Amino acid sequence: QKGSDGKYMVTLIEGDGIGPEISQSVKDIFTAADVPIKWESVDVTPRLIDGKTSIPQEAIDSVTRNSVALKGPLATPIGKGHVSLNLTLRRTFNLFANVRPCKSIAGYKTPYNNVDLSLIRENTEGEYSGIEHVVVDGVVQSIKLITRAASERVLRFAFQYAQDIGKPKVRAVHKATIMKMSDGLFLSIAREVSKDFPNVEFDAELLDNACLKIVSDPTPYNDKVLVMPNLYGDILSDMCAGLIGGLGLTPSGNIGDECSIFEAVHGSAPDIAGKGLANPTALLLSSIMMLQHMGVTQHADRIREAIFKTLAEGRTITGDLGGKAKTAEYAEAVIKNL
Ligand code: ATP
Ligand code: MG
Repeated sequence: QKGSDGKYMVTLIEGDGIGPEISQSVKDIFTAADVPIKWESVDVTPRLIDGKTSIPQEAIDSVTRNSVALKGPLATPIGKGHVSLNLTLRRTFNLFANVRPCKSIAGYKTPYNNVDLSLIRENTEGEYSGIEHVVVDGVVQSIKLITRAASERVLRFAFQYAQDIGKPKVRAVHKATIMKMSDGLFLSIAREVSKDFPNVEFDAELLDNACLKIVSDPTPYNDKVLVMPNLYGDILSDMCAGLIGGLGLTPSGNIGDECSIFEAVHGSAPDIAGKGLANPTALLLSSIMMLQHMGVTQHADRIREAIFKTLAEGRTITGDLGGKAKTAEYAEAVIKNL
């Protein structure tokens, strides 16, 4: 919602590792482009209350109030009994769909030049339900939970999204030949939901086949929206990120009914943290997805063009892309190209 000053308040979670550095680039570029946004920075360092990981109430309140957040990578402290903080955030705000566009960047050479994939990953259940136990010594069981409610919600979102972005074809990616009940349910709900979207074509493909085909030639997938259960989406979207130049370039949006959190696909990159070497493009493109989601499209287009121009010029790019520029120098070059 716009404030009386005509600006939108957005929650900013800078995150760990390279998080503060790449967040600074986003802030600098937004200021230079005069984006009508005010950042509300919050800390989400987890607190362990009664053995349960929770995020600070102020952070929850801020995201709930603003309904939109940009988030840097979060490292999950190891061995303190915390579950993944990313997972905690998704559950706290019921962010049921993870949208991952994967688009070639003109001027940055990769084996394929025309990749324009759209993946939607179920974000709340499946293999990530965290239900695991020892049956007897040496035998463990992990439960993949698939529910009608969560499947229908993400599938409806996928069909609507396909319509909205002008790619009126949805393909469910599954393994229902093996997981007959769980993926079978996901698939049959997909067929049901497709009936409510007569203008959107629907089909389905086995995950293994999809992987083989996409790495052999991704272009036949450009006109479709791929939707799938949680773990398949995790793996397939990293694979697709590899097709366009890696983790420094891929954005994502976690979408819920009440709020949405946009974030880079990559982690906190502790190996290069604090050195000014990180590529802020993935977080920047996430912030552009966020602006589009909010309807602030003119600023989004302008920043995106400046990013693509800077990458295509290739003079001021970061080390992961084969350049020598520091994070701040790259941001400076983007600002010049605005
Ligand atoms: P985490 O535990 O937070 O996921 P990680 O050790 O898995 O951290 P990632 O962040 O997933 O590290 O990164 C994997 C590799 O990719 C690292 O070598 C990292 O330096 C590199 N990398 C990731 N993001 C970026 C980025 N934005 N710019 C440059 N290099 C990056
Ligand atoms: Mg990682």
